[in-house]
Amino acid sequence: HAKQAGRNAYRFFSEQMNADAHERLALQSRLSQAVERGELLLHYQPQIDLRTRRIIGAEALVRWRDRELGLVSPAKFIPVAEESGLIIPIGEWVLREACRQVQLWREQGLPELLIAVNMSALQFKRSDPVETVRQILEETGLPGHCLELELTESILIDDANLILETLRRLKALGVQLAIDDFGTGYSSLAYLKRFPIDKLKIDQSFVRDIVDDADEAAIVHTIIQLGRNLKMRTLAEGVETESQLAFLRVEGCREAQGYLFSKPLPADDFLALFRQGRALAGGSIQSVPSAV
Ligand code: C2E
Ligand code: MG
Ligand code: MG
Ligand code: MG
Repeated sequence: HAKQAGRNAYRFFSEQMNADAHERLALQSRLSQAVERGELLLHYQPQIDLRTRRIIGAEALVRWRDRELGLVSPAKFIPVAEESGLIIPIGEWVLREACRQVQLWREQGLPELLIAVNMSALQFKRSDPVETVRQILEETGLPGHCLELELTESILIDDANLILETLRRLKALGVQLAIDDFGTGYSSLAYLKRFPIDKLKIDQSFVRDIVDDADEAAIVHTIIQLGRNLKMRTLAEGVETESQLAFLRVEGCREAQGYLFSKPLPADDFLALFRQGRALAGGSIQSVPSAV
């Protein structure tokens, strides 16, 4: 009986694996077509200066609108894109589109707006990130200091000398460098000090419970102090409540992003919110319902 059960379990297991692999492959080929057909789009989430409550920047977040599947979340397709290498053309499209959009807004009279773009580890290692960024800045006319690249800690654990060299060349283009989801990876504090990083983005998983959980509060406190000591800015991700905001301000965090201010918005809605926020001099940014 045991043998029989084992065989059945094995058959079930391999059928399940086949189904999963098949689903991944199907998603991958749909995604590849989507890239060619231009079915990707960007949403922009405001980044707020906590002292003035004004929008100082935006993070570009990719979306995929499929005719049958509807709006597919990046949580679902970014892993597929990473696995298949599609993240390289996707990441390049995102960078070009975000820079193009922000340069357009600048030409329409918006002051210095920082655009933050996510860069995956594969994009960083397999392609020539410096040359890509240089070319896109030149092509769109966006000044380097208006672009911030969000890197993950996983990028920083490879060959330190090679990474340091790449980061320096990126800094030479004037771009800002942020570490995304800081605290969730394994970055070495010794390297962090050597690398020319401008900003630490405190992961939303730590921000979520800062008000009720002393451990999370201690972690956030420590990251903000670390940022201060290393002369890096800190931005809190996923801020949803006024009490989280109050805690962050007391701790000396200067920037935030989260549903309390706004969800990621289509370009037109972001522009409208930005203009409204400027008109409300010194007032609070209003939360706006979002498409996603
Ligand atoms: P991320 O870069 O850490 O982006 C922040 C995510 O948190 C976004 O999810 C955003 O919508 C969400 N978020 C923002 N504020 C709040 C809040 O107050 N509460 C909660 N619960 N969530 C909030 P999204 O847009 O689904 O993106 C998920 C992840 O997908 C991103 O995490 C990033 O790792 C990846 N991603 C998105 N766009 C790109 C891209 O263009 N390139 C690459 N390589 N990765 C991307
Ligand atoms: Mg990010
Ligand atoms: Mg993040
Ligand atoms: Mg994240």
